[in-house]
Amino acid sequence: MNLHEYQGKEILNSFGVRIQRGIVANTPAEAVAAAKKLTEDTGTGWHVIKAQVHAGGRGKGGGVKLAKNLQEVESISNDILGMMLITPQTSAEGKLVNQVLICEDVYYPGDSEPDEYYMSVLLNRATGKNMIMYSTEGGMDIETVAEETPHLIFTEEIDALLGIMPFQARKVAFNLGLSGVAFKEMTKFVTNLYKAYIGSDSAMFEINPVLKTSDSKIMAVDAKVSLDENALYRHKDYAEMRDLREENPIEVEAKAAGLNYVDLDGNVGCMVNGAGLAMGTMDLIKESGGEPANFLDVGGTADAERVEKAFGIILKDSNVKAILVNIFGGIVRCDRVAQGVVDAYKSMGDKITVPIICRLQGTNAKEAKQLIDNSGMEIISATEFQEAADKVQEVLEAS
Ligand code: GDP
Ligand code: MN
Repeated sequence: MNLHEYQGKEILNSFGVRIQRGIVANTPAEAVAAAKKLTEDTGTGWHVIKAQVHAGGRGKGGGVKLAKNLQEVESISNDILGMMLITPQTSAEGKLVNQVLICEDVYYPGDSEPDEYYMSVLLNRATGKNMIMYSTEGGMDIETVAEETPHLIFTEEIDALLGIMPFQARKVAFNLGLSGVAFKEMTKFVTNLYKAYIGSDSAMFEINPVLKTSDSKIMAVDAKVSLDENALYRHKDYAEMRDLREENPIEVEAKAAGLNYVDLDGNVGCMVNGAGLAMGTMDLIKESGGEPANFLDVGGTADAERVEKAFGIILKDSNVKAILVNIFGGIVRCDRVAQGVVDAYKSMGDKITVPIICRLQGTNAKEAKQLIDNSGMEIISATEFQEAADKVQEVLEAS
C-alpha cells in the first residue's frame, strides 16, 4: 500500500528521522493558514507547495513550486489543487490532485547546486537481505544516474538479526563525502531511517532528495513509502492512511467483495479459483494469442453470489471481449460452481454482453458440464485447458 509524501514523512518523524516540516491542505485557504503557522514556528517565510499524489516526478510535472509570500502560497495552491498532474510516472491523462503539502523552504536561496542525496531502503530479492541504496547524485534525475553511471549508486546490505551496525552508518556517511556535523547527522539519519523501515513493516522507503542544509543538518525533503499490506493488521493507524482515491476503483470494489482482482490491459476476462491456476490461465491465454484483461482469484467458495459479483467486476472493464471461467473443483464441487455460473448468468440477464467460456475440472466435473450444456444459456463449455483457450480465441476472432 502506497502512502502520500506527507504520510511517509509522519512515519519518518515518529522514528526520529529529521524531515522538512510541512502541513497538508485541502483548500487554498488551508494552505495559507498552514504557511502562516510554519512561518510562526520557524520564521523562514518562503514555502514549497507540493501536490500529493501517488506518483513520483512531481517536480518535473509542475507539481512542486516555490512560493515567496502568502499571496503566492494562495495562488499556487489554487493552481495545483484540482489539476490533473502529469508526470513521467503517471498515465497520459495524469492524476487528480486533492491535497497539497505546504512545506517550509529548506534550501539555501540562490544555491544552484544544493547538496541533495538519494537514499532508499528495500529488500534485495537476490540475496534475501534488506539493503540501503544511496548516492551523492540525488535530486530529480536519479533514474538517469542509475542508467548511465550506476557506479555512483552504493548499496549496503543489512543483516536481519544484527540490524544496522554503527560502522555501516559511518560507511554510508563517508561514501557520501560528509564530514563534521553533517557526518554525524547522516549516521543518525540512516540509522533511524532503517529503524523506520523495519518498525513500520514497509516494503520500500525512498527518500529523494535527502538534503544537507546550509547549517549541515540532514533531512528528508521527499518521502516515498510503500507499506507491506500483509502487516497492516499490526499498524491500525497506518491502515487508516489508505487513500482510496488513488487506487483503481474496480480493484477497490473487488477487494470489498473479498475477491482478489488485479486490473490488466488485455481483452480476455478471467475468473479462476486459486492464485496459481489464475497465473496459469493468464499464461495460457497469452500463449494462445490473447491478452488477459485481469487477474481474478474468486477463492474457495465459488457460489452464485460470488460468481455474479465477479462477472460484474470483470464486465466493468469495457475492453473485455470474452470471459474464461476456469475452476478446479477440489474442495468446492464443480456442479455447485456450475450452478453458480448458471444462476449468476440468469440473474444478470442482458448485463452479460460477451461470450463466456467455462471450464470446470475436478470433483463432479461431468455433472457440471451437463448442467452448463443443458442450461439453455450461451455458455460455451470446455473440458481441457487448451481447448478452453482455443475456444476463447475462436470467439475473439469471430467478434
Ligand atoms: P518529486 O519530483 O515527486 O520527486 O518531488 P520532490 O519532493 O522530490 O520535489 C522535487 C524537487 O523540488 C526536489 O528535487 C527539490 O529540488 C525541490 N524542492 C523540494 N523542496 C524544496 C524546498 O524547500 N525549496 C526549494 N527551493 N526546492 C525544493
Ligand atoms: Mn523526489
